[in-house]
Amino acid sequence: MSECPACSGEGDEMGKLGLILWQRCRACGMEFSQRVSKAPGLVIGQTYTYEQIKAEWGGHFANDIELPVSIQAYVDKGALKKVKGGWECIG
Ligand SMILES: [Zn+2]
Repeated sequence: MSECPACSGEGDEMGKLGLILWQRCRACGMEFSQRVSKAPGLVIGQTYTYEQIKAEWGGHFANDIELPVSIQAYVDKGALKKVKGGWECIG
């Protein structure tokens, strides 16, 4: 869910087509799209802390060891970039 580019209203997710997430603004009804990352659930251009990635992905992993390995795998794929304080979603 993200902010409407026209009025800053709240977007309602309508569905994903490939790597494009379509949303409709709850306030003005405008439809807009956003490219989503190859990294599941993350939004391109945002920076995430380990805790935020863990909150998004945590349920998929049996233990705390697999998650950092997975983060590194997405760094290697060019979806995430290590930055100060966390990882920036870049693709
Ligand atoms: Zn709007």
